[in-house]
Formats: sequence, C-alpha cells, structure tokens
Amino acid sequence: MIESYIESGKIASRIRDEASKMIKDGTLVIDLVEYVEGEILKSGAAIAFPCNVSINEVAAHYTSPANDKTMIQAGDMVKLDLGAMIDGCIADTAVTIIADGDVDKYYTQDEINLHEEIVEASSAGLEAALATARAGVEISKIGEAVHEAIKEYNLNPIYNLMGHSLEVNNLHAGISIPNYNNHDDQTLEEGQAIAIEPFATNGQGNVNDAPGKYIFSYRMHKPFRLKTTQRVLSYIENNHRYVPFSGRWITDEFGKRKSGIALMQLSNAMAIYPYAPLKEKKNCFVSQKEHTVIIEKEGCMITTL
Ligand code: MN
Ligand code: MN
Repeated sequence: MIESYIESGKIASRIRDEASKMIKDGTLVIDLVEYVEGEILKSGAAIAFPCNVSINEVAAHYTSPANDKTMIQAGDMVKLDLGAMIDGCIADTAVTIIADGDVDKYYTQDEINLHEEIVEASSAGLEAALATARAGVEISKIGEAVHEAIKEYNLNPIYNLMGHSLEVNNLHAGISIPNYNNHDDQTLEEGQAIAIEPFATNGQGNVNDAPGKYIFSYRMHKPFRLKTTQRVLSYIENNHRYVPFSGRWITDEFGKRKSGIALMQLSNAMAIYPYAPLKEKKNCFVSQKEHTVIIEKEGCMITTL
C-alpha cells in the first residue's frame, strides 16, 4: 500500500509543478483544470477529486463548470489543489501561485507584496507542520505549529478549514488536522496517511459558503420518477461512488439542461452532497499549501514533494 501512496504522490506532484507554469495572465481556469485532470488519467492514476482552482478570496472548492469563462489575471492569488489515486491510495497536494504577467494592470505594488507574504505564510505553516508530524504527536501540536508560523507574518490561518486523514478510496477519513491549537489530544500513528494543508489570510481567518455548486459527492441511492435523474444517479454510482466529482463531468455526459435538473434533484433529495465554494468572510485573500505524508516513528515521509 505504501508503494501506491508513493506512486500517486509522484504523479500528483509532477502534474502540480507542470500545471503551475500555466498560472499566468489570460489563462482560462477551465483549461487549467482540464489539463490537470487529463494528465492524471494519462498517467494511469484515477482522479481523487475535481481539480480545484480557487482565486483570491475563494479559499477552496471551486472548479470550472462546463464552458467556464473565468480567466486568471496577473497578480491573482491562485490556489491549485489536485488529487491522484492509485489503487485507492490518494495523493492530495496544493500550491498557491501569484499569477505571472503585467501585475500593474490589476494591482498596486503594495498589494503584490502583501500577496507574496500571504503565500509565504502558508508555506511556512506547512513547513512547521511537517517538522512536527510524527507518530505519537498530538494533533493539536501540529495546529499550534501552523498557527505560530503564520502569526510571524502578522496573518491568520483559516480556523475553520482543516487537513485530514486519508484512507483507501476515502478522501476525508476520520481525523482532522487543525491549523491552530484546538486542544485535540488525539495522537498520530505510524503508517497513517495524512493531508496537511495550512491556509493563510490577511482576514480574520474564517470562510463561509459562497454561491454556486461545482463539486459533489455521492451519498446514497434514492428512487426518482424522472428517468434522466435516475440515469444520472446510476452513472454517478458506477463512476463516482467513492470520491468527489465535478458537475462539469456530468454536463459533458448528459448536456447542460439535463445535468442541471438532475444535479439539483439529487442534491435536494440528499442522494448526492453539493460542496459550496468557500470564501473568506471579509473577502480577504487566502493562500494554501498542502502535502500528503505518511506518518513515521521519527517524522513523516512526504509523498507529494
Ligand atoms: Mn487538497
Ligand atoms: Mn486536502
């Protein structure tokens, strides 16, 4: 199993680094997410969740809908978060890139300096967490390390977003890794796979749901009178039973009108769960950095380096 974690990690980190080069002025978000998802499939891995590209005050859970016209602008704070899976063993990794290009078109130099600091702060938070993670350590100690590192920049972590344990075919298994000391005295165990993901912001450090639903996960079978809705549910059960999927993939398969109605009915009946994009409460900017690690006796092995 360790071998599969290592393999998915190598694939995810290579694609993350390649795709990062596309983050520049004028890039369409849909081109970026389709590149990432296509490369994951080409590598022989499965997609562990739709490629997230969350910009500026959006912290997470945005992926392009079909025909998305969202464009990256120079100086934007772009979070690229992707997951690859080999035999159900998931690599979950994210990076934040300040989009390349003529930043003066959209931002002042002071703003760009602030963006760079916010990005540095989440990197420092992740470094501190990685230095703390090992078998026997309390989960709250990792959160404390993240918080301390981000405080050095006079910034806040996002208090209501957490890292998570990974299990076979399960992206968010039982354990949550906080980005502050939440006094959780649960300890990590050797061999556990964990995704650690500090977020940093110049805001107060909380995210709320924003409008739109682009990412979903399967919950349970329900009967539906409408044939299309039934067919979409069967399709989801056959193809996306375990890990989150994109509304765009359903649109690609069933068309805009049918997929729109079906996803709404399935969500309302709680056959699927819709994830809202998460936005910083005061619309302040957010950065994120994430690695997947395997917990070892004296430290941890980063699979997504
Ligand atoms: Mn992630
Ligand atoms: Mn994650």
